[in-house]
Amino acid sequence: MTEKKRIVSGMRPTGPLHLGNLHGALENWIKMQTEYDCFFFIADWHALTSDYEDTAQLQTYVKDMMIDWLSAGISPDLSTLFVQSHIKEHAELFLILSMITPVPWLERNPTYKDQIAQLNNKDLSTLGFLSYPVLQAADIIIYKANKVPVGIDQVPHIEITREIARRFNYIYGNVFPEPESILTKTSKILGTDRRKMSKSYNNAIYLSDSPDSIASKVSTMITDPQRARKSDPGNPDICNLFEFHKLYSNEETCAEISSECRTAQIGCVACKKIMTENLVRFLEPIYEKRKYYEAKPEIIDNIFKEGSEKARKIAGQTMNEVRSLIKI
Ligand code: SF4
Repeated sequence: MTEKKRIVSGMRPTGPLHLGNLHGALENWIKMQTEYDCFFFIADWHALTSDYEDTAQLQTYVKDMMIDWLSAGISPDLSTLFVQSHIKEHAELFLILSMITPVPWLERNPTYKDQIAQLNNKDLSTLGFLSYPVLQAADIIIYKANKVPVGIDQVPHIEITREIARRFNYIYGNVFPEPESILTKTSKILGTDRRKMSKSYNNAIYLSDSPDSIASKVSTMITDPQRARKSDPGNPDICNLFEFHKLYSNEETCAEISSECRTAQIGCVACKKIMTENLVRFLEPIYEKRKYYEAKPEIIDNIFKEGSEKARKIAGQTMNEVRSLIKI
């Protein structure tokens, strides 16, 4: 039997998971669980790189994130699930990698510049934020991952990871495989205001939102911006809400709505109501599982414990090799 290739991926616990996270990342992870040896971690140290000032909710977000993962279909029987800060070896490898990483590699990283411009309400002129890709490299190569699932905007980070691994191997000896990116499709659905769905834009629908909260968020959604009145024909092709229908309503309903919208037979209020019902139906199994895990916090603690033990063992073996090569 050939050994499964290893995948490492993480998510920052900066708030509850939304539909964009589900369709953009989590669904890919769920599919990959059977094909690969998956290591999925909650990147709490990474959360500090941008949200270092307010950590009051961090512990809650970490636990909630694991509940979201499990409720959506991530399985501790198929994947190794853990919290980044529980494996101190990541920090040790980060420190060593930071010694050999040239600063210009980090300064020219396009997401670094973009994020500084976008998150201008936060002071991100910190060493931690600049060296984010070095910590990410440590997270990945400490498990000798072969592949990393990423969205297109993360590809430059994986390129830095490969360069750092190559530089370490060149200086000290061959320890790390150079991981490859697996490009994952990003979710097409936008937030309620038609911008990218994001907690920071306050436009997200969360997996843990109640049906009432979903109904109220959907009611504010921007639809076809050129359709002012119900009597105007609409265009589903430019309507963000119709993208939601494509995910949550069946083909027949989508075809009906598309035709009735174009002929002004259905108004946006009625259309939103149908989509809300179908979205809530889609989320029902996730709600059920969430209720189960919320009532049994000991299961979550156990998953963290078992996942950490497995991850720590492999990270520890890698660090023994690293320490011996650099003679520390
Ligand atoms: S009827 Fe539906 S598909 Fe058409 S513009 Fe309104 S919300 Fe969009």
